Amino acid sequence: MDLGALARNVARLRATVGTPHVMAVVKANGYGHGAVESARAALAGGADWLGVADVAEGLALRDAGIRAPVLAWLHEPETDFAPAVAAGIDIGISSVEQLDAVADAVVRVSEATPDAGGPASVQLKLETGLSRNGLSQPEWPAVFARARELEQAGTIAVRGLFSHLSNASPDDDAQAIELFDGGVEAARAAGLAPELLHIAASAAALRIPRARYNLVRLGITIYGLSPFGDQSSAELGLTPVMTLRGRVAAVRRAAAGAGVSYDYTYRTTRATTLVLVPLGYAEGVPRAASNGAAVSIGGRRFAICGRVAMDQFVVDVGDLPVAVGDEVVLFGDPETGVPSADDWAREVGSINYEIVTRIGSRVRRTFLQP
Ligand SMILES: *Cc1c(COP(=O)(O)O)cnc(C)c1O
Repeated sequence: MDLGALARNVARLRATVGTPHVMAVVKANGYGHGAVESARAALAGGADWLGVADVAEGLALRDAGIRAPVLAWLHEPETDFAPAVAAGIDIGISSVEQLDAVADAVVRVSEATPDAGGPASVQLKLETGLSRNGLSQPEWPAVFARARELEQAGTIAVRGLFSHLSNASPDDDAQAIELFDGGVEAARAAGLAPELLHIAASAAALRIPRARYNLVRLGITIYGLSPFGDQSSAELGLTPVMTLRGRVAAVRRAAAGAGVSYDYTYRTTRATTLVLVPLGYAEGVPRAASNGAAVSIGGRRFAICGRVAMDQFVVDVGDLPVAVGDEVVLFGDPETGVPSADDWAREVGSINYEIVTRIGSRVRRTFLQP
């Protein structure tokens, strides 16, 4: 992982969007890149908030000594919020039950550690069209009133209001933004004074200026990948952070007609060299890339041949001289001539997000420090 590239991506994005606050989203192990390392590099690049899905991800950042503001917004049923409250993690609220659960956690934390003190910081998530989590419009008055009560009791503080866009169409996003604006107005009318307003992830941050408010939540773009089908990383001025490499584990000369990997979906058509790469779907190499996706060996591209198995795949390199131990690049920065995560996504009918995020835990992460 090129952490210098990550920091530069953040700095560049920050300059482009121009918001007072930038949240670097490091959920799902930093989209596969390593959450703690990505968080530190993003902060070095100018992010001032970190975003995670669940509380456990937030606590892992705190355990690593990261003190920056963190927001966690997606909770398992019956999550105990006390550790998050004690660790000073902002909690995204999608139901009145969660609000009460946080209030209850605050009481327990302050009983256990009387000088921990202070209200818990929460951010209310408004549902504006995605039909996922968030407070739906009819419940806004009741939840805002309850939040105000808890604020006055000194239990919680509503630091922000946020939502998330569908990217379905400009019209759909505009409608969601209008609904969100209505929610902000209603919250203020109920006596709340949220300091942070945010609705934009990477795509809207780049393409919908009015969606920026005073904070944007940037995920895929900090890792140097484009959220758009019609604009590449390079066109956005971003550098992919992850390079996935393997090493040739076996080399065998095969005669014409040799079957390769399960089901022999590939057969050699001439005498050729077959190399084994010890990365499979357990490592996140999609099985759908069988007989498809290209890898780079010795500066040249070759397609995977035969089925991708759990732990390995085979490449037919023709007469290229290859030795055990040679480097194989699956994807990285296409500006350096290797395939991209986007190439892989196209090949398997997915998106770059899924390609990088699914890289498995058996793959050792190494970090190029800035
Ligand atoms: C994952 C996520 C983001 C980041 O989205 P990108 O498209 O990767 O920038 C932002 N906000 C929420 C609520 C998310 O779940």
